[in-house]
Amino acid sequence: RHSPAELKRLDRDHYLHPFTDFKALGEEGSRIITHAEGVYIFDADGKRILDGMAGLWCVNIGYGREELVEAATHQLRELPFYNSFFKTTHAPVVKLAEKLCQLAPGNMNRVFFTGSGSEANDTVLRMVRRYWALKGKPEKKWIIGRENGYHGSTVAGMSLGGMALMHEQGGPCVPGITHVRQPYWFGEGQHTSPEEFGRECAQAIEDRILELGEDNVAAFIAEPVQGAGGAIIPPDSYWPAVKEVLARYDILLIADEVICGFGRLGEWFGSTYYGLTPDLMPIAKGLSSGYLPIGGVLVGDLVAETLIEEGGEFFHGFTYSGHPTCAAVALRNLELLEEEGVVDNVRDNLAPYLAKRWAELAEHPIVGEARSVGLMGALELVADKTTNARFDKSLSAGNVCRDICFDSGLVMRSVGDIMVLSPPLVITREQIDELVDLARRALDETAARLAH
Ligand code: PLP
Repeated sequence: RHSPAELKRLDRDHYLHPFTDFKALGEEGSRIITHAEGVYIFDADGKRILDGMAGLWCVNIGYGREELVEAATHQLRELPFYNSFFKTTHAPVVKLAEKLCQLAPGNMNRVFFTGSGSEANDTVLRMVRRYWALKGKPEKKWIIGRENGYHGSTVAGMSLGGMALMHEQGGPCVPGITHVRQPYWFGEGQHTSPEEFGRECAQAIEDRILELGEDNVAAFIAEPVQGAGGAIIPPDSYWPAVKEVLARYDILLIADEVICGFGRLGEWFGSTYYGLTPDLMPIAKGLSSGYLPIGGVLVGDLVAETLIEEGGEFFHGFTYSGHPTCAAVALRNLELLEEEGVVDNVRDNLAPYLAKRWAELAEHPIVGEARSVGLMGALELVADKTTNARFDKSLSAGNVCRDICFDSGLVMRSVGDIMVLSPPLVITREQIDELVDLARRALDETAARLAH
């Protein structure tokens, strides 16, 4: 058995971490997480930390669920792996597909499985282009995404996403994808009201469509609430206006539900929360509560029927598309969320409670805005509350706050100077109180540290 110090040394010597500044690990190295229970993770020093990020926005059902261990163990014994290529199938994948279609908006009756959210978005890109080609409209090949959107780390995923740093590293991007402004009122819209800004952002989509040529746009892709970009909650006017624009030019809607799906906003899907009927929905993360890797694309009837009736073979798939063990765990996870009324409890109980407690943090001297929807939240860190001026970039205020949070027993992620929150959906009101207290103390300490 390796000691924690030995593990840290090996980690530094051999492991290239995702999304980590390799140079920043320093002498201290990485924190070793050993086990987890409910909403808490534990590190090698035995420290208990409230996981305000549900892993990576995914452990919706919470840690330590024996039912999921049993589902995996049972399936590993029966049939650990088999594919569903070439006219074979197996019970876990069929049952999961049926369950997903029951939960999804009414126009969605088919699902394609992948191993991750990024692969789901790669799949979507190919499906959309194939759909329009089959419809005899190959000119419809532009896809509009949003600046700062996140759709994964594969080449297609990062191209659909609008994160400038990703485009710079390892480009060029997939051609035929363009990005419009995000509905980020606090950061970009304070020249006007949130409602007016929501309409401006929808207008930006229409302007881009007209620039590209009104017959040339295949689809618009967006997260119902932009997650990794900083929990960007759109103004209420945004989605209704976007829907109108897309309908006017016969453009498909891809709602990336990788974060918003499976209860995060207090509905099964973010699309349901915003009254959207997307044509395609990439899913992952909360689908299995992160216990095993699985993703997929829920496909609306319009696209599915064309692919099936006119398409023949879709020459696409992954070894782990519809992996039996991952599917069995995902199915059990969805059953548990349903049986225990987890999603309803988020909507009726936890979301309003979090909204109330979270809003109290807006009073803090270094918080410019505290926003939340469902169990997703964000705090905007500012140096001056009266003007909402940011801290000097060199201070890395968000990272300072993130590290202070971690050290004091709370995981919150920083996106620049936005602190984001996305706890497991099984959190209790008492644990929300604990979380808000920890966050407030971390903000105090951040303010003190940045003042020096
Ligand atoms: N789409 C969204 C909205 C995401 O937040 C993520 C991951 O954070 C992805 C896609 C990519 O999913 P994965 O990391 O499983 O490839």
